[in-house]
Amino acid sequence: MKQFFCLLAALALLTGAAHARLNVVASLPDFASLAEDIGGDKVKVTSLAKGTEDAHFVDAKPSFIRVLNQADALIEGGAELEQGWLPPLVLNARNPRILPNAPGHIVLARGLKLLDVPTKLDRSQGDVHAAGNPHFNLDPGNFQAMAATIAEAFARLDAANAPHYAANLKRFNERLAGRLVEWDKLAVPLRGVKVITYHKSFDYLAARFGLEVFGQIEPKPGIEPTPTHINTLIPQAKSAGVKLVLMEPNRARKTPQFVADSIGARLVVCPGLVGGAPEAKSCFELIEFDLRALLKGLQP
Ligand SMILES: [Zn+2]
Repeated sequence: MKQFFCLLAALALLTGAAHARLNVVASLPDFASLAEDIGGDKVKVTSLAKGTEDAHFVDAKPSFIRVLNQADALIEGGAELEQGWLPPLVLNARNPRILPNAPGHIVLARGLKLLDVPTKLDRSQGDVHAAGNPHFNLDPGNFQAMAATIAEAFARLDAANAPHYAANLKRFNERLAGRLVEWDKLAVPLRGVKVITYHKSFDYLAARFGLEVFGQIEPKPGIEPTPTHINTLIPQAKSAGVKLVLMEPNRARKTPQFVADSIGARLVVCPGLVGGAPEAKSCFELIEFDLRALLKGLQP
């Protein structure tokens, strides 16, 4: 009987420990990666999207509703990045902890300066960047603010472990500072290189490391390429001396390859999200992978 009570006590402890961990759901693996760095062993993190998906058009599985229903916190990019799939899931999950404006609803774009913010919201052209460019995950200079937003939210939701989150944030920032210096050195040959990108996914990476984005394969963000657009783009890009055409692994290769061949540029496949390549398992590894892919694309 005594053993039985010991077993019960152990089970209660285990259950208690499991409940003590914050249950965090991230829209994208990039935000999950940051949440793991800041939360450490005090959080359990799940990403809804896979890194091989398009962040605007994620396959919204019914199982996501159950995952969201049990979440203590939801981390999303915001700025309409997940507008096409996440809001109905959050509503259907019926979880007051993660509803918009609840303490557990963490929107990373709020702490950042976005590119291409329009003076007025206009979705009439089907543009999925109507609130500005939401692909800020590819500027490692943004990681500090994103990590700080997450650390603040975790401390608010789980005050007992606030010192743990603060210590992890400090360690994260120290590691980031070192990597930023390394990446700036590594990326010197990329400065001033003109590129075309499939989608406006790489503008933050380009701005950070001095690449010049000449244009896109898409006529507007989220709109499939048209012959008219491609036929206008090719001669302009050729005379401008565009060297690289960048696309994410999940895009159809035919049109970007045709554009690259037509202008004498190299097609480079760069993941836009963590997990878009097996080597890009974290935010840090994604930046490293993309920089090396771009440098390789410049080699003769
Ligand atoms: Zn986009």
